[in-house]
Amino acid sequence: MKKDILDADFESFSFSDEILAAIKNMGFENPTEIQIKTIPAVLEGNDVLARADTGSGKTAAFVLPLLDNLSNQNVYAQKGRSKRFDASTRVASNCVQIVVLVPTRELAIQVAEVFSTVAENIQPAIKCLSVYGGVKINPQMQALRGGVDVLVATPGRLLDLVDQNAIKFNQVKALVIDEVDRLMKGDFQEEIERLSKLLPNKRQNLMFTATFPESITTLVRDVLNTPEIINMDGFIDELEIEQRAITVNHHQKNDLLAHLCRENDWQQILVFCSAKRTCDNLVKKLEKRSIEAVAMHSNKEQSVRSAALKNFKAGAIRILVATDVAARGIDIDQLPCVINYDLPRSPNDYVHRVGRTGRAGEKGLVISLISHHEFQHFLVIERRNGLNIAREEIDGFMLDSVAPPLPRKSPKIKKTKLTKKQKIQSKREQEPVQDSGDNSHQDHSETEPVESTVNAHIWGNLKK
Ligand code: AMP
Repeated sequence: MKKDILDADFESFSFSDEILAAIKNMGFENPTEIQIKTIPAVLEGNDVLARADTGSGKTAAFVLPLLDNLSNQNVYAQKGRSKRFDASTRVASNCVQIVVLVPTRELAIQVAEVFSTVAENIQPAIKCLSVYGGVKINPQMQALRGGVDVLVATPGRLLDLVDQNAIKFNQVKALVIDEVDRLMKGDFQEEIERLSKLLPNKRQNLMFTATFPESITTLVRDVLNTPEIINMDGFIDELEIEQRAITVNHHQKNDLLAHLCRENDWQQILVFCSAKRTCDNLVKKLEKRSIEAVAMHSNKEQSVRSAALKNFKAGAIRILVATDVAARGIDIDQLPCVINYDLPRSPNDYVHRVGRTGRAGEKGLVISLISHHEFQHFLVIERRNGLNIAREEIDGFMLDSVAPPLPRKSPKIKKTKLTKKQKIQSKREQEPVQDSGDNSHQDHSETEPVESTVNAHIWGNLKK
């Protein structure tokens, strides 16, 4: 039995037969701990703030009860009555009933797929849609025309749809913010604040996060209405996920990575780099060493990103080299190994990267390659996450006692002063390839500012 799946059963939640059938089809035998704690609160219509490990089953923890609530509402609306929600009937044109916000396009697709899978046999049919940037907005506008029950969105594209008058929020019953720690700070924060003002005040709010930086507490307190706080212990299960730290000279990282990929029979490897260019270069370097790999980052067109992830999930690609765009929520079945080619920028990001392996109680392995200039940063990551990982060296890749110089960066070009108009033009040109003019909001998934991790007292403060 998987480690966090307890001796409880889904029948105890009084789900509808359709939801129970969907649970069975997905092969879930028992609810996970986060599901046991969250599902009853969501069914009651309460606000929830839940901290749970990545891979602990948090998606189903909100999808199952929300769809149960929604299908009950639909059934009761048909009979002219309402149960948990208002007596509003089916969703009207351009309206939406449940809004789920996620930080990345891939996560939007994945979460919408879980909604669609669970909703498959529910009658009257429940319409689920994902919307995200990097693809044409028109088909999304068309899909919204008939109204949508569940909309899973990245915040930027949702605001683009608002600006295009393609969406109305007056029928919204519930808002889910997944990966709150990412969505309630930095560039995303303004977007979330703008969106939450557009939604009706009377709504259910659910927030899920794997980590909980202190800076977001006020915001969370403002949005949530006397939430049930569910605080699952621990971020990284050190018994299930083996963490290794290999010290290596910076210039030998490529060879060491190639060596590790050859010498170990890991079926699949997700390699994280800090920059988009590093991903592309690393793929070329691996290919030169006759190792096939595919790069994924936000400069790639959406179709290329989706294909890379789809093929990786299907097992058709052995090595995926990605920026932190792949670090959030992405569920890759039985991924045995994550390698940090570069260290993540923040201790939070380390937790999210680790969370790609060892999912739903499977065993996982994370290897961080640490060169001289990263020693100090890795200590911070360890301290903030309460870890103490032994340093190791690999024969043939021993560390020089003195740090070799880092490769020189290309010389800085002196900037000429630009007019306001030129600045806007230049910013547009620097943005990743997007569809023409209808995607004014950027994808912020690779631009997370460094922030300190959880403090236990935050949870105490929020309860006040
Ligand atoms: P999540 O944390 O939502 O990304 O889920 C991680 C993985 O756990 C996914 O592959 C889910 O399909 C799986 N999962 C979720 N709930 C259960 C459950 N009750 N039993 C078995 N697997 C589950």
